[in-house]
Amino acid sequence: MNRRNFIKLGVVGTGAALAGVESLRSEPVAVSTSSKPSAMVAMPISVAPLAQRDLDAMFADMRERAGVNALFPFIYSHEPHRAGVESAGFHGGNYARPHMQFYKDTPLNLSDMRAPEFGDVDILERVIPVARKHGIRTFCFLLEDNTLPAAVKNWESLYEVDHHGRRTAGHPGGPCFNNPGYQNFTLGLVEDYARSYDIGGIMWGSERQSGLLNALGLSQSSGQDPGRTTCFCEFCQKKGRDRGVDVERARRGFGEVETFVRNSRNGQRPRDGYFTTFWRLLLNYPELLAWENLWAGSRHEFQAAIYRKVKAINPALQVGWHVWHNMSFSPFQRAEENFTDLTGFSDFIRPALYNNVAGGRFVSFVKGARNSVFGDLSPEATLDVLYRELNYNEASYDKLAATGLSAGYVKRETRRAVEAVAGHPVQIWPGVDIDVPVSAGGGHCTPESVARAVNAVFKGGAQGIILSRNYVEMKPENLSGAGSALRELGVI
Ligand SMILES: [Zn+2]
Repeated sequence: MNRRNFIKLGVVGTGAALAGVESLRSEPVAVSTSSKPSAMVAMPISVAPLAQRDLDAMFADMRERAGVNALFPFIYSHEPHRAGVESAGFHGGNYARPHMQFYKDTPLNLSDMRAPEFGDVDILERVIPVARKHGIRTFCFLLEDNTLPAAVKNWESLYEVDHHGRRTAGHPGGPCFNNPGYQNFTLGLVEDYARSYDIGGIMWGSERQSGLLNALGLSQSSGQDPGRTTCFCEFCQKKGRDRGVDVERARRGFGEVETFVRNSRNGQRPRDGYFTTFWRLLLNYPELLAWENLWAGSRHEFQAAIYRKVKAINPALQVGWHVWHNMSFSPFQRAEENFTDLTGFSDFIRPALYNNVAGGRFVSFVKGARNSVFGDLSPEATLDVLYRELNYNEASYDKLAATGLSAGYVKRETRRAVEAVAGHPVQIWPGVDIDVPVSAGGGHCTPESVARAVNAVFKGGAQGIILSRNYVEMKPENLSGAGSALRELGVI
């Protein structure tokens, strides 16, 4: 989203909010004290409006339109669009004040961590008491950066290393889950939030997948460099060796994958076909799958460490995970992001189920997949195979970008998530699409389409919902569409 649209939507949100302020101020909403908590209705938000706007007006707007009872600020980010500020000269970081006693054995120092964009304002300190007055709890939303922050040099040593031995600088690379400096920073950050503020919990997310899937282009962000497969840093190499994996053969295997994908993109059909070549790579280099497991398993271990850290400080805090939208298109990522595997260290899971924007993203996924595993098939046939594998019944390839996915997709995916964690005390709070920006020709939300998606979440058995992806992007009438459905369902 460009800056102009961002500001335009932001202003609309503020103006609309003012209308409802008085009635709410005269009837303050108390935080529920009943033993049965109300269903989670959460709202992610950039920090800029939390620093700059009239909070009472904004929270009243969220409450009145959609019964929001939890706020999820992007409280730590080095990405300007998440912070909601201009890119030029941007630094980012922690929009609350870091308490340095919690940060040990990490290369990041106070000036690396502290976001300077709003001076001395501590966003959590400013927001939490006002939000509570409106019956809104505050959760820290930690979404991993997709780009190495250029302004913070000390981040560099925390980033992954590709199979050529080069440090990555952004997606599909990112900070390495096996790097102790990154582990210590993240655990310090969640400890800081858990001890220093009266929060409801923490949601952490990483919009990445393992190296093999990236190299094969099996991504909604297809077309990425297949030579940037990760991670071969010293810590991952050691972990691999300790597991008995031949690191050099893994590295060579990724080189072969890189060649396969580059040739495919250049229109060179492998003599024995795309699928056969893909499968032969796995036969010849089982180390590829071993490295895949190493990466995916390391992320789960990282999540488990976050969970244990926070729960040891305060078991009442809720800890959960944002799950990248790509899982909705990729049976491969779906396989390695099995929600049942998360049940030992999750209070909630938020699968991103953005049905509107899913159309264009799915088309992008198909394009990437046809440069490797699915190269033998037409785009239409590829989509058909994926629909069958994923259990979808959706629009044809030529209409998909404009149509998006249906509310039926939202319901099926919610149901699948709920079933995966059945029998465990884990709640599913799907992320539902309210004006997530789409490329030209993509679908557009209406109050009715949003209401259908919200309805599908609860018909699918979810215990809560995260209105997504950012309050400042939402048209007020579409947020009200969500509210209508929630009222009809009796959720609010
Ligand atoms: Zn690594």
